[in-house]
Amino acid sequence: MEKKLLLVDDEEGIRKVLGISLSDMGYEVLTAQNGEEALAVFRAQNPPIVLTDIKMPGIDGISLLQKIKSENPETEVIMITGHGDMELAIQSLKLEATDFVTKPIQDEILEIALKRACERIVMRRQLKSYTENLESMVREKSARLVELERLTAIDQAMEGLSSAMRGIADDLGEDRLRCFNEMPCFVSVHDRSLTVLAVNHLYHKRLGNAVGAPSWKIYRGESAFAERCPVGRTFMTGSGQQSRETVELPDGSQSMLMVHTAPIRNSDGRLDLVLEISADISEVKRLQDELDTTQQRYQQLFDESPCYVTVQDRDLRILASNKRFREDFGDELYARCFQTYKNRYEPCCDCPLLKTFEDGLPHQAEMVATSNSGEQIHLLVGTAALRDVSGEIVQVMELATNITQIRKLQDHLSSLGLLLSSMSHAVKGMLTALDSGIYMIQSGLDKGDPERVQEGVATARRMTERIRDAVLDILYYAKEREMKREVISVMSLIYDVIQIIEPKLKTLPILWNCNVGCVLGEFEVDRTALRSAMVNILENAVEACLEDSRKPSHHVGFGVRIEDGHVVFEISDDGVGMDTEMQERLFALFFSSKGQKGTGLGLFIARKVIQRHQGTISVNSQPGVGTTFSIHIPMTR
Ligand code: ADP
Ligand code: MG
Repeated sequence: MEKKLLLVDDEEGIRKVLGISLSDMGYEVLTAQNGEEALAVFRAQNPPIVLTDIKMPGIDGISLLQKIKSENPETEVIMITGHGDMELAIQSLKLEATDFVTKPIQDEILEIALKRACERIVMRRQLKSYTENLESMVREKSARLVELERLTAIDQAMEGLSSAMRGIADDLGEDRLRCFNEMPCFVSVHDRSLTVLAVNHLYHKRLGNAVGAPSWKIYRGESAFAERCPVGRTFMTGSGQQSRETVELPDGSQSMLMVHTAPIRNSDGRLDLVLEISADISEVKRLQDELDTTQQRYQQLFDESPCYVTVQDRDLRILASNKRFREDFGDELYARCFQTYKNRYEPCCDCPLLKTFEDGLPHQAEMVATSNSGEQIHLLVGTAALRDVSGEIVQVMELATNITQIRKLQDHLSSLGLLLSSMSHAVKGMLTALDSGIYMIQSGLDKGDPERVQEGVATARRMTERIRDAVLDILYYAKEREMKREVISVMSLIYDVIQIIEPKLKTLPILWNCNVGCVLGEFEVDRTALRSAMVNILENAVEACLEDSRKPSHHVGFGVRIEDGHVVFEISDDGVGMDTEMQERLFALFFSSKGQKGTGLGLFIARKVIQRHQGTISVNSQPGVGTTFSIHIPMTR
């Protein structure tokens, strides 16, 4: 116990002498010379014992006692009194002072008073801890009591249940299944000969009085036989069964039941009876069927929708897809979207799905994909976020519409528009020239100048010729121009192409690998159109080399050979090359990576010309390495 003590006396001598004695007794002594100071020390240090003079100027001992007791009633206050202060001493005891000692103070008496104070303090502390212990004991005991009550309740319930079960077994002769009569389900008891011994009210009312009938009688379908009905199976296996059964009601209609059975054994453990409990689930079944139909309808909608539908996770794995998608792009589950659609090894830049995962909003994009059969399909892709109950995006649905036909039509229309505008410009110029020819003829006639007339006629003829060519060109792109097919030797076309391209290459730091040799044979082609297609592809190769600053020198190759009845042209370069994305787009109208310098018409028209010769063009390219175009033109029509 801490032995702190506050000594209050206005006489310095007493404070000193008493202080020494108290210190000797083992107390830590705080002192104050009047009531005010004493209160301040008391409040700051809270000593458990206060020893105070009863008579002091200012706040006297009695007032100090009252104040201290009111602030901390547990403080032990011992009063120091003079000989004539008996009345005051008694008053202080009434005010719950612990004791009083009379001046001159004898150490033994003081010690007794202090001992008493200390004992009181210890007792008080013990009392406090006992009370606390008692409280926690009470808490513990009552928790145990509650637990006990709970166990008793469970016990009673178990007891009730088992006596009810016993009741069923014992009681079958009289008011059968008393305890089950109120239950909102069908209850029946069956014996070893598979006969119904008893049924509850609801069973009786809805399924008829089956007492005495065979246990399987109400069932339809597979369970309408002794050994296959739920009770039969229970006797056979010795354990409870659970199944859905179709039953026939007394009015001839059918209903669906969820049936549970429980074996009831006698005291020897022999299986004597079976308890069968069932509930009508026709309504549940109807709802289930309805749900199935709705689901089927949704699946049908999903499958038959005229676009490709997929559901993907954050890794762009395809978790579900519709029939159309599976037909055109395969049914490999968990395949990555970019691999399936584009044969790529990483997501496309600007992937709309990833954007939707990020911001939850729908996004759109246009893409070119390659189907299983190798067909290039233009897709308009739209996305929608799929969220879980907490609102978090877990998957994204992608709807991709095939717009290849629209794109083709658009390409056709815009190329037509472009041609018409440039042609009308040219034709306007030619018409002006034609006008001047006519004017020349007129003035020649007027002046009787046959030379001038002839000159005018020549101009007019030239212009009509050119206008005719221009119109034919327009018709060519409008798919109406007949190709000007002529039988030429393959060599003569090669010669034409080399004539145009070689002079150009000579001025550039590009090596020309012409691997033509002597290609024999003839084919029937539109010479001008095919020639300009080849030149276009060669010019692209040259431009790709010029654009590539990473290699010190470059090569452009031109190879021709005959293979399987086709003339195969191969144009290769070691220029900048192209990534997959670019390769997918390079034949599109107006696609050009060359800004102002390109038109994006070259390859578009070249492919059209090649296709009109029943030929094919394919590309093989790698960024930074180079590109090879292969053109196959059949030799016989
Ligand atoms: P243009 O040459 O006017 O740009 P083209 O239709 O001829 O239009 O070509 C389309 C695009 O295809 C080019 O802009 C270029 O990006 C790409 N391309 C064509 N040929 C090559 C090649 N040999 N190497 C690299 N890129 C090529
Ligand atoms: Mg070009």
